[in-house]
Amino acid sequence: MENIYELAIIGAGPAGIATAIESYALGMRGIVLLEKDENHNATIRKFYKDNKRVDVDWKGQKVELDGSIYFVDGTKESTLDFFDQLLDNEAMTLRTHCEVQKIQKDKDGFEISVAGGTIKARHVVVTIGRMGKPNKPEYKIPPSIKSQVHFTLDACSFGEKIMVIGGGDSAIEYAVELCGKNEVSICYRRNSFERANPTNQNDIAKAIENGCVNALLNTEIMELESEGGCVKVVFKDGSSALFDRLVYAIGGTTPSGFLRSSGIREADGKPVHDENYETNIEGLFVAGDITQESGGSIALGLNHGFAIANYIISNRV
Ligand SMILES: Cc1cc2nc3c(=O)[nH]c(=O)nc-3n(C[C@H](O)[C@H](O)[C@H](O)COP(=O)(O)OP(=O)(O)OC[C@H]3O[C@@H](n4cnc5c(N)ncnc54)[C@H](O)[C@@H]3O)c2cc1C
Repeated sequence: MENIYELAIIGAGPAGIATAIESYALGMRGIVLLEKDENHNATIRKFYKDNKRVDVDWKGQKVELDGSIYFVDGTKESTLDFFDQLLDNEAMTLRTHCEVQKIQKDKDGFEISVAGGTIKARHVVVTIGRMGKPNKPEYKIPPSIKSQVHFTLDACSFGEKIMVIGGGDSAIEYAVELCGKNEVSICYRRNSFERANPTNQNDIAKAIENGCVNALLNTEIMELESEGGCVKVVFKDGSSALFDRLVYAIGGTTPSGFLRSSGIREADGKPVHDENYETNIEGLFVAGDITQESGGSIALGLNHGFAIANYIISNRV
């Protein structure tokens, strides 16, 4: 007979792993985690800089942890180790290189389409986050400068003139990381960094005061051009400046195509769900960053996973 999982989770980030671990802890068996990348937590691996400080209270939001997962402040590396250990200790299946294309309800539950086949499950939780497609600016990025425009720090090296665009925690952390070794500007359309958490506000204030980072506040970009091997940034006030690289840290987008193809209703840039994170399709849930218009936090994703596990287990027939 065809294998039907009790629970399939799409995306092995913090919210997906928490849903799996908490469901297992509450006695559920037959859990599969489907991850498109080569390992769990692709967002943390790709977008966090090495040795990044990881705050439980991200974006200055205090979140009390509800479930059994004891997550504490640490670094990128300690956080990944922590999730490794959680997955090592429990008997659940993590299938990597497994990108889910769509989910369809059928008589036994759900049919999940992946490259080269389908997987069946009675309940499905979608935790694919928003960083699959990082936000891009509205103006055009000319093809000739594409190799100098980035969304992570991977390509940045030493002694370059770099501008970070954004004013949240990620943008500040990128600017502060780059500034010891490069000439760094940060361009933000608002007039202060008040959306960031207190530590990052303090770090950027110090970097600006010490002359390590040049802050371009209340500043918007109109267009980008290529000039003499550099990126020419033309600002809305008519001024312009040349940079070796630009790094955008302006969040991620709702995976609307995925939601639509799976029949999940969307409103105001988020999938519609009830207080138990169940979507318009019974048995199909959403959790983590995908439920937050401007992104959430690790702790928030862990709490969503715990809430969903409790709900599914107490309502199982
Ligand atoms: C630069 C940066 C710094 C941050 N720092 C902090 C911090 O210090 N503290 C904190 O609490 N939060 C921080 N955050 C936010 C935090 O990373 C997110 O809130 C958290 O990762 C969201 O978890 P998630 O499980 O919802 O989604 P994600 O972590 O985005 O995980 C989604 C997973 O789903 C996979 N996936 C996507 N599509 C598919 C598909 N179709 N099929 C299968 N798998 C798929 C992805 O590969 C990924 O592994 C930071 C974010 C960024 C970008």
